[in-house]
Amino acid sequence: MPYTVRGDVHTHTLFSRHAYSTIAENVAAARAAGLDLLGSTDHFSSMLFPDQHVRNFQYLLNRDCWPRLWDGVTVLRGAEVDITGLDGSFFGQDLAVPESISGHPEQPGTTLFGLVAKGCDYLIASVHNELFTTGASRAQAANMYISALEHPQVLVLGHVGRSGVPFDIDPVLLRARDLGKLIEINEHSLEARRPKTDSACRRIAERCAELGVGVVVNSDAHIAQAIGHYPHAEALLEEIGFPEELIANRDAATFLAAMERAGLPRLQ
Ligand SMILES: [Zn+2]
Ligand SMILES: [Zn+2]
Repeated sequence: MPYTVRGDVHTHTLFSRHAYSTIAENVAAARAAGLDLLGSTDHFSSMLFPDQHVRNFQYLLNRDCWPRLWDGVTVLRGAEVDITGLDGSFFGQDLAVPESISGHPEQPGTTLFGLVAKGCDYLIASVHNELFTTGASRAQAANMYISALEHPQVLVLGHVGRSGVPFDIDPVLLRARDLGKLIEINEHSLEARRPKTDSACRRIAERCAELGVGVVVNSDAHIAQAIGHYPHAEALLEEIGFPEELIANRDAATFLAAMERAGLPRLQ
């Protein structure tokens, strides 16, 4: 039975620098694909700019001007933040922001992470440069993911089957289930048909099914045309008989309810 996934909650605009579409193009593509929910989650990461100044990240700070309901599509303002430490710390937590983009003083203690997170409906936490995990045990890597999940604004662990960080799967999935948080089944990870990634993604999906852990099926689109299309992810889920009720982004209402269960604030 084919799945219906009417929300795509991991997508990029050209503000991710190696992505190519505007938010308006992404919304139009979401609508054309029959979606009722789009989560825009540009990278919040050191990979974007050589200089980590707040002015380089203002694309994540002014999204209040986006309509919540945009051409019939509910649009969420998220970010894909890099996990940067084995303690589950994030990019930007150690970057002080003394001044706003216009040069006015910020409150003492303001960090780049804090400023950006404040403007986000939810965060996806992902590892993109796994070098800091070199030599870590599977248990240490699991604890890293658990700490990341425990951050109140993190809703999703992004592409854990592709990040090149071996980890003990069950403790992470069980903690996600306890917290009502979600594991990503990422289309982009499966497109390349890399046997190691494919088998890791499959194992993770199987365990989510067996343990009753909620997931999100996402394109991780870096161009508008990819939004709402997940043929490899859906084929994998069909092969293993994945229960549809565990897919939290099957429509907007289901995803918004999952956000609330995970303790995220209601949308403004
Ligand atoms: Zn990217
Ligand atoms: Zn990613």
